[in-house]
Amino acid sequence: MPSAVDEILEKLKTFGYEAYVVGGCVRDCIMGKTPHDWDIATNALPNEVIECFKEYKVIETGLKHGTVTVLIDGTHYEITTFRIDGDYLDNRRPDNVTFTRSIKEDLSRRDFTINAIAYNPAKRIIDPFGGCKDIENKKVRCVGNPNKRFGEDALRILRALRFSSVLGFEIEKDTALSIHKNKNLLLSISAERIRVELCKLLMGTNAKYILESFHDVLSVFIPEIKSMVGFGQNNPYHHLDVWRHTIQTIISAKEDIFVRLSLLFHDIGKPLCYSQDANGIGHFYGHQKKSADLAHKIMQRLRFDNKTIAKVGKLVLYHDTSLQPQPKQIRRLLNKIGPDNFRLLLWIKRADICGQAPHLKDERLILIDKVEQCMMEILQQGQCFSLEGLDIDGRDLVDLGVKGPLIGKILNKLLEMVIDEEIENRHSNLIAKAKELIKT
Ligand code: ATP
Ligand code: MG
Repeated sequence: MPSAVDEILEKLKTFGYEAYVVGGCVRDCIMGKTPHDWDIATNALPNEVIECFKEYKVIETGLKHGTVTVLIDGTHYEITTFRIDGDYLDNRRPDNVTFTRSIKEDLSRRDFTINAIAYNPAKRIIDPFGGCKDIENKKVRCVGNPNKRFGEDALRILRALRFSSVLGFEIEKDTALSIHKNKNLLLSISAERIRVELCKLLMGTNAKYILESFHDVLSVFIPEIKSMVGFGQNNPYHHLDVWRHTIQTIISAKEDIFVRLSLLFHDIGKPLCYSQDANGIGHFYGHQKKSADLAHKIMQRLRFDNKTIAKVGKLVLYHDTSLQPQPKQIRRLLNKIGPDNFRLLLWIKRADICGQAPHLKDERLILIDKVEQCMMEILQQGQCFSLEGLDIDGRDLVDLGVKGPLIGKILNKLLEMVIDEEIENRHSNLIAKAKELIKT
């Protein structure tokens, strides 16, 4: 434990109170991971906590829920009074908060056994629900009756999936059954909260298990997933159905949220674009655009920020562009999506290849490496692929007497010629060419 946490526990003890570290930090420590924050629980009431820490910098914003934040060396430590949550009316928020003097009662309101362990140096581990054993056996299990707990707060359904994915745990049988049974309660959860959990679970090491076994739960807020599940592709390049392929790409991918979201959506339009040729081979013409449109809609529904929506939409739209290590083609694509997205696109393509028929994998991955090499050279050499890199600009054209929309037209024509190596990106050449273009 950091010395500041020791200091806080000690301080509360000196004033005659009980205090523990609880929740995620205890779980992470038992697993040998470094916690990202430390939550403290105490039987002292909020105003008593404030009294104990009157020589410290204290933030009182969480007071209503019993939380006092103490600042030590620039780090926030939340100290929360033991509490039992009141009635849950909207499947989400406790109506009112009741404080209690018992750590066990406080632990009993927590979501999963692995999150319901407390520790302090004197009492050591307090684990009334078998959380340590569940950590050892890698199980996510509700504290108490799962149906009741998910009924109180449906967000716990997604938290269970997220913890399972991130920690690499299995969801215990009764908890899993209850998740399937109660999944529709998620409809009452705000899009923002769903989005946060979805992103975390996509990044987890155990995402495959969750996406395979709980797609019905994800379909509650992304119904478009339903038609992907079991949708056969009837195509020699694909050995997996659309959903299994999607899962394979996600778990093969770099741990980057833009890449993983793009992969979640990259083929979501496929079931709507299916056709079969005379040989019985399946095709999905136009699925890039369809998938990009659906990705837009879904992300808007889940209240993603506009930047993410635009970026992922673009990556989905271009995910199937066939790439060759040819500078002209690469400069053109750099112009359309920019270097950052280009790099992400290469990660997406690599992952996509990992979900396709294995006999083509090595060859296709080598091609992507060559494309990357070619892109790097273009960037390192500072080759021109955008109007900003062009050695002529609007003012030059104004000086030549060009006005209005024609300026943009001529600049873009010149850029196209530079990208295609029809003309060198040199000021004098471009001016000469511009003069020619003005005349025609
Ligand atoms: P993370 O590593 O994501 O922070 P965490 O376990 O610390 O994991 P938090 O969301 O920070 O999760 O919550 C802290 C603790 O509060 C949890 O460990 C759990 O005991 C309790 N908790 C949080 N949300 C809920 C909930 N919806 N229902 C019941 N208990 C909850
Ligand atoms: Mg936490």
